[in-house]
Amino acid sequence: MLLRAFIYPLSLCVLSFVSYSQDTIPHVKGNITISIKKGTIDCDLVISNMPRLQDYYLRLNAGMNIQFIKNAEPGMQPLNYERSPYDSLSSGESLAYYISSWSASGKYLPRSIRFKYTGMYPVITDSSSAVDWRGNIAFNGKTLRADGIQSAWCPILYDIKTDTRYENVTYDLDISCADCQVIYLNGSEPVSGTRAKLSTKTAQDLTLFAGDYKATSINGHYFLNPDANEKELTELEKTLHSFQDYLEKKSGIPYKGKMVYIQTTPVSKNNSWLFVSYPSIVKVGWDAGMKSFLSKTEGPEFLFYMTHEIAHYYFGRIRSFNAEIGDMISEGFAEFLALQMTRQLISKDLYEEKNEIQGPGVAKPESGTCCRHPLKS
Ligand SMILES: [Zn+2]
Repeated sequence: MLLRAFIYPLSLCVLSFVSYSQDTIPHVKGNITISIKKGTIDCDLVISNMPRLQDYYLRLNAGMNIQFIKNAEPGMQPLNYERSPYDSLSSGESLAYYISSWSASGKYLPRSIRFKYTGMYPVITDSSSAVDWRGNIAFNGKTLRADGIQSAWCPILYDIKTDTRYENVTYDLDISCADCQVIYLNGSEPVSGTRAKLSTKTAQDLTLFAGDYKATSINGHYFLNPDANEKELTELEKTLHSFQDYLEKKSGIPYKGKMVYIQTTPVSKNNSWLFVSYPSIVKVGWDAGMKSFLSKTEGPEFLFYMTHEIAHYYFGRIRSFNAEIGDMISEGFAEFLALQMTRQLISKDLYEEKNEIQGPGVAKPESGTCCRHPLKS
């Protein structure tokens, strides 16, 4: 379990100098029913526009119980599927499935595939779990938090031959959650209510945050479940936007889209971290949430962590590296940019302090993981 906590979902950081980035965009369509109080997720999904892969796995969270997998063409019978123990690149939360066949690879991948499955998870309201981490499907009594890559709450196709994940998908989904106030899925605006019909043609990974919370919009950017008031959030948004402006100016590449800043608590006592799943940046912890960025004493340090996550737009989202040291490259550049923003926009003293610890422009090795940036440790 601890291992899971510290494995970074190369998610953001798997890109490609070689042409290994995701070449096909699968489309996910169907119905999802969530209960925050019961800790359940029911899914009936069709994933279409599958790439033509010979050797693959379909990763699905280990807590999901499959009712059936079918070719999504009408009138098809359930397919026999196998589970592989050899998905060594998975970070542990998911199981690797494939449909066996008499083909040369021994596997069959329909162009459109239907998955029907149910997951039930503990609703942990007393933070009694030993650990929480990015890939955990976390029901804390008020919300459900599930990232779009590591948790694999929705099946994620993986090409074994090229080491490519197909987590970025377009979607057309109908999400019901009778005990939710707000439903949010990466790529769509948060929806107030118990049902959200969402669709996007822009490929996204499916980070999901639903439950009993409020969403506040500031200049088109969203803060979900914030502890700060509108005036404070307006001030914070201005600061965060200045980081995007800085990166945009220096790179000459527009920082596109509207950010969604999420604040939530873990299901354990001692974990706190930030992670980015563009356009969402998620702060998980027991300390102050959005207010922590405005604190006179601790704010600069928190903002330093935030600059790193914001910089991942360029090294993670726009450019990724499908190589053994891909995450190191991505983390290194994100950290370098964070240091530059800290020097220019946050605090020269903090920059000197960080630079002294880490060396000029060099990321401290253990800081190079988006999913475990300690906020207080
Ligand atoms: Zn990072």
